[in-house]
Amino acid sequence: MILVNEPLLNGNEKKYLSTCIETGWISSDGPYVKEFEEKFAQFIGVKHAIAVCNGTVAIELALAAIALQPGDEVILPSHTIVSCPMGILRRGGVPVLIDVDPHTWNLDVNQLKDKITPRTKAIMPVHIFGQPCDMDPIMEIAEQYGLYVLEDAAEAHGAEYKGRKCGSIGHLATFSFYANKIITTGEGGMVVTDDDRIAEAARYYRNLCFQPQQRFLHRDLGYNFRITNLQAAVGLAQIERVDELLNIKVNQGRLYTYALQDVPGVRLQKTEDWAKPVYWVFGLLLDDDVPFDASTWAKMLLNEGVQTRPFFWPLHEQPVFQEMGLFKNESYPVAEKIARRGLYVPSGMGLKEQDQITVSEIVKRTLKGITY
Ligand SMILES: *Cc1c(COP(=O)(O)O)cnc(C)c1O
Repeated sequence: MILVNEPLLNGNEKKYLSTCIETGWISSDGPYVKEFEEKFAQFIGVKHAIAVCNGTVAIELALAAIALQPGDEVILPSHTIVSCPMGILRRGGVPVLIDVDPHTWNLDVNQLKDKITPRTKAIMPVHIFGQPCDMDPIMEIAEQYGLYVLEDAAEAHGAEYKGRKCGSIGHLATFSFYANKIITTGEGGMVVTDDDRIAEAARYYRNLCFQPQQRFLHRDLGYNFRITNLQAAVGLAQIERVDELLNIKVNQGRLYTYALQDVPGVRLQKTEDWAKPVYWVFGLLLDDDVPFDASTWAKMLLNEGVQTRPFFWPLHEQPVFQEMGLFKNESYPVAEKIARRGLYVPSGMGLKEQDQITVSEIVKRTLKGITY
C-alpha cells in the first residue's frame, strides 16, 4: 500500500526533543518557541510570527487580532477546509462565499467585488494545495474598499507569488504544521504579519489576554492557543532544513506532472506563469467524459494499493451550515464539480520516487480506454 502521507523526521527533531525532556522545558515557556518563531518569520519574510497549537486556531486568532466584530463579513472560497468559516463563526462573523477558478482551484478573483458590502471586513484567500492565489488584484480590491487580507497559507509554506512568499503579501496570514503539512510540528500553527499592532494583539489573545502590568486583570476574553516547546523543537528542526524539504516537494510535483500531464481523462491543477507552487498535495481532476466520479475512482485506486484523499467538500453544501441557515440556495458550480471529480494521490514528505512512478502507472491503468 502506498500511503497518502508519510512525514519525514530525520533531522534534529529527536535531538531537540531530548533537550526539552532533559531541561524540563516542555510547556510554551521554552526557548524553542521563540527560536522557531524567529526562523519562520525570516523564512516567510515577515516581521512577526506568533506560534499556536494548530492551524485552525491560527485562523481564529488572526480574526481576533484584526478585531473582527459580530456581524462582520469575511469573503472566502467555498472550496476550502472547514477551519476557515469556523474561525469566522466562532467570532460571531459571517462567512461569505465565492466560487473557485476551474483551472487553478483557487478563489475566483472576478467574483470578489459583487460580494462586498458595508459589513465586509476581510478577504481570506486560500492557497489551495500549495498553489498561490492571484494576490495583486486581491490586494488592489482590498485597498480600494479598506479591507484586510488574511491569507490561509496552511498548504503553501515556501510557495511564491511573483517572487514573494505566500503569507507575506496580505496584512496577515496563517499556517498549519499538522503532520501532513510541508513543515510539521505534529500539531501546530502560526500567525504571521508585518503589522506591530496585529502581532501584539495576536500574542495577547493567544495567552488568555494576560496584561503585562497586571497579569491577572483581564479586559478581554482570550484563548489558550499556546504551542509547546516540544512542538516548537520539532518545528525548529524542520525549518532548519526547509530548503531541502521544499526541494523534495518541488521534485515530487515535477515527477507527477511529467508522468500525468498528457494522460487522457485527467486534468492537473494549473500553474500560472507568475506562480511557484510547492505541490503540498498532487490533485487530479477527472474529465467530464469519464463515466465515474472521484469516490468510485478512489476505490479502484485503493484496490491497486494506492491510498488517496478526496478534495474538500464545498462549504455551502455542509450540513452543519445548512442547519444554521447559511448559504441557503447558493450554488458554486466549480466547487461542487471538483469536490465530486477530484482526488489527490500520495504526496507525503516521505514518499519515494519509485512509489510515485508506481502511482502514476496505476492512475494511467485505471483510466485506460475509459474516455474513447
Ligand atoms: C490544514 C489546514 C488548516 C488547518 O490546520 P490544522 O493544523 O489541521 O488545524 C487550515 N486551512 C487549510 C487550507 C488547511 O489545509
